[in-house]
Amino acid sequence: MLKVLKFGGSSLADGSQFAKVKNIVESDPSREVVVVSAPGKRDSDDNKITDLLYLIRAHIKYGVSHEGVLEMIRSRYVGIKDECGLSTDIGKLVDETFADINKETSEDYIVSRGEYFNAILMAEYLGFKFVDATEWLMFDYDGKVNNQKSEAKLKELKDIYGKIVTPGFYGIMPGGEVRTFPRGGSDITGALAAAFLDADIYENWTDVSGILMVDPRIVKNPKTIARVTYDELRELSYMGASVLHEDTVFPVRSKDIPVNIRNTNEPDNPGTIIRENFDEILEEEKSDRFITGIAGKRHFSIINVYKSRIGEAKLGLLRHVLAVFDRYDIPVEQIPSGVDSFSVVFPSNNLKMKKHELMHELADFDGIDSCSLTEGISLIAIVSRTMAYKTGMSGRIFTALGDNNINIRTIQQGADEINIMVGVFDEDFERAIQVLYDKFSL
Ligand code: ASP
Repeated sequence: MLKVLKFGGSSLADGSQFAKVKNIVESDPSREVVVVSAPGKRDSDDNKITDLLYLIRAHIKYGVSHEGVLEMIRSRYVGIKDECGLSTDIGKLVDETFADINKETSEDYIVSRGEYFNAILMAEYLGFKFVDATEWLMFDYDGKVNNQKSEAKLKELKDIYGKIVTPGFYGIMPGGEVRTFPRGGSDITGALAAAFLDADIYENWTDVSGILMVDPRIVKNPKTIARVTYDELRELSYMGASVLHEDTVFPVRSKDIPVNIRNTNEPDNPGTIIRENFDEILEEEKSDRFITGIAGKRHFSIINVYKSRIGEAKLGLLRHVLAVFDRYDIPVEQIPSGVDSFSVVFPSNNLKMKKHELMHELADFDGIDSCSLTEGISLIAIVSRTMAYKTGMSGRIFTALGDNNINIRTIQQGADEINIMVGVFDEDFERAIQVLYDKFSL
């Protein structure tokens, strides 16, 4: 059994967070590979080390003294070193590193140092071998990771050293320069390491106990989703839930290595497991009231297009209306349809100044009898992989909303039955989500 762990910045913000990480790693001997971010914020007024490094780079570029910012960085690392009782002279290493930095030094190199220093400290603290990301994470000239070479190198280093700590966020270009991923890129490093080493699980340790069933700003203390598929995750994140970006976990997804989102501050919480599919169905998932999550977005509009006895002309009319939307550069979200009418649901922010022109253009078209605009619509998605072929789900959703006097403006369900989406008025948005959560959270 091999577990690859990635710890985010808030899990590594100071010595007490380092101590939590050590407990977590040492509680399971299969936790052999640790990927670290740079120290994050200790509280909401604090700075992320990576942000300070970007600032240093700007100061150097514009010839402004960066000593004050450097001191903030140095003291963060020295603080961690002292709190953890480590012997690495990290203050000296920080100073030496920055003594060599000038206007010519690349931004990627400067900002990568946050992870680099942190991994050195964490390696000493855990008694694991420090392996620099430049030793194994290799980019090609086009900026893509060279999977073959990187995998071979990481396997070799893992075989030699057994337990390792490596910095996230960056790797090396063929010419030897450091190159970083986009912000938040340590998640990618962790996923690559897990995939290259064929880990049994990729544990992504952060400061939340997994993915929540619903936005905690709307529902108080919502439950954590125990298991979610990538398809469900995509539905939830598309509808506004802030969850791990799919692209970042692509390497583990393609190898079907489960991703486990865990909370460093609550290590006993099992968090959320993300997988392509779950073979076995758990007892609670068989319940009529089981769903994975609820997500929603506000501020949509609906244009309803009506033509009496529309018949076969419907297709042409639909094409015409969609061409108009295309010309106005308005993305279309849904097209619910009736016998002599259809509606186009779209995000209101794309309407802005174009509202009157758009309505006139549609109304002037010969093939349309009338059209009307409704603004202030919210879309809510109820997502669950277990909904397919389970009868009565939509009935229960509509009853719950109806019983609470919430009018449903639109309804949509794809044939994969993973998602039922309802449109309600913006003023009912939060109440609708609460009602649905109360009805479907077991
Ligand atoms: N430290 C980098 C950032 O703040 C990368 C990471 O934490 O994933 O974006």
